[in-house]
Amino acid sequence: MANPTGFKEFSRQLPPRAAPPERIAHNQEFVGTYSDDQLTQQAARCMDCGIPFCHAGCPLGNIIPEFNNAVHQQDWQEAYRILSATNNFPEFTGRICPAPCEAACVLSIHSAPVAIEEIEKHIIEIAFARGYVQPTAPVLKSGRTVAVVGSGPAGLAAAAQLARAGHSVTVFERDDRPGGLLRYGIPDFKLDKWVVDRRIRLLEADGIVFRCNTEVGKDLPAAELLRDFDAVVLAGGASVPRDLRLPGRELAGIHFAMDYLTQHNRRVSRLEIDGAPLLATGQQVVVIGSGDTGSDCVGTANRQQARSVTQFALMHQPGAERPAHTPWPAEPHIFRSSTSHEEGCQRYWGINTKAFLSDETGHVRALLVTDVSWETDVLGRRLRFQEIEGSAREIPCRQVLLALGFTSPRYEGLLEQLGVRLDERGNVQASDKSFSTNRPNVFVAGDMRRGQSLVVWAISEGREAARQVDVFLTGKTALPSKDAVGVFARA
Ligand SMILES: Cc1cc2nc3c(=O)[nH]c(=O)nc-3n(C[C@H](O)[C@H](O)[C@H](O)COP(=O)(O)OP(=O)(O)OC[C@H]3O[C@@H](n4cnc5c(N)ncnc54)[C@H](O)[C@@H]3O)c2cc1C
Ligand code: SF4
Repeated sequence: MANPTGFKEFSRQLPPRAAPPERIAHNQEFVGTYSDDQLTQQAARCMDCGIPFCHAGCPLGNIIPEFNNAVHQQDWQEAYRILSATNNFPEFTGRICPAPCEAACVLSIHSAPVAIEEIEKHIIEIAFARGYVQPTAPVLKSGRTVAVVGSGPAGLAAAAQLARAGHSVTVFERDDRPGGLLRYGIPDFKLDKWVVDRRIRLLEADGIVFRCNTEVGKDLPAAELLRDFDAVVLAGGASVPRDLRLPGRELAGIHFAMDYLTQHNRRVSRLEIDGAPLLATGQQVVVIGSGDTGSDCVGTANRQQARSVTQFALMHQPGAERPAHTPWPAEPHIFRSSTSHEEGCQRYWGINTKAFLSDETGHVRALLVTDVSWETDVLGRRLRFQEIEGSAREIPCRQVLLALGFTSPRYEGLLEQLGVRLDERGNVQASDKSFSTNRPNVFVAGDMRRGQSLVVWAISEGREAARQVDVFLTGKTALPSKDAVGVFARA
């Protein structure tokens, strides 16, 4: 243990952030860094638990107590070695992960958890600054070829691991640049795009070939991949947005969140935009949906100087304390505010949209809504809702952003041509052990398999799928599995 009394001596601290009025004046990241002393103190809070629940809470199996110890010793090379053994892209997770490891941290039972995510970000940024992060692919090649479809975190992680195993990897990407939702979903103020570009350059130096502007199943028949590559990894994400089919849905001014966010990300990167500009400037904006995507719309609308930003959630407002249905070490279902909410947003909970109302020109002018009350079980889990009589009213707005998540991957094109089997939710069917589809040499990882999820899960799935591809191609694998990393790191 770095410091046996550190958790009593030091309280949890996060690095400084620019104040909301300052940060909404631009689109870049606004979180500062720890001083050397602060970083050492935050690492010293780790108790090096006999059973490190943080490690089990992390979908990557990050070896957290060990890297905390190395940070406390200021042994940056060792900290980076430990972190990069389980996580290909700590610079992404260190910025945008909701940190299930922190929810599982033993300290969080009675105090604030260790600031694991920030420590992770500091390790990787120090490693980059000191030149420790270098291409890792072996010079000796296996002679086997793999096509990866999709360049989001799942595809990038699979590609990185397969290149490490000596295979020749080509990544096919529909968009003009690699990164998936890291590039065109998540806004720059959460993840600056130079961070994505820096990693792509390293992957290219590993010999990975990126073929952008290539939609497999449209620009390139899927059969060509099966013909030209020994194995295929599908990592195309879950891109079909959930709609709100209500009266007035056809009105002008109602958009899917991803159309709005993609445009903004492209604008910030000074890239061309398809279609009419979607801008919140001077508008009354309502965001329907309370997840990450909704929150990113709030932050973006504020940066575009919306007149007002309102966010609706159908569920009731969670409490400040862990409810019985999410006991420690599970992710607690509690009230949270994102940095975007801090920047200005009226939040409504327990509200149901009934119709989009039109002005005389066919543009949305208001939403017809009702309040709802939720029936819950004894543990506090939501069962069903009822509209509250007499609560119907209009909420004026000129722009509505639908941020209700994604239902599944698109079947037409790639999946249809491959004839892969789907599960009951419309995702590509494969177990979280084999990652193999009903076609023997076709594997699947990330949101395309598990449904919309998190970056950390996409990286984890990409890594695990790569192991299975390696076994398929060579009969064995030396790539690490998250189930064995604890042993691997301590050995
Ligand atoms: C707005 C938004 C904000 C989010 N914020 C967070 C966050 O803060 N933290 C977090 O952990 N998670 C967040 N998420 C979720 C996270 O981004 C996803 O879970 C993750 O990116 C999934 O990774 P993936 O690689 O499976 O798919 P994606 O990132 O969706 O990448 C799939 C890629 O495949 C490409 N593709 C699809 N079909 C084809 C084809 N036929 N041919 C070629 N290319 C194809 C797509 O163009 C895309 O680039 C957010 C999601 C959204 C939408
Ligand atoms: S659970 Fe928290 S205190 Fe315990 S080892 Fe993990 S980070 Fe350290």
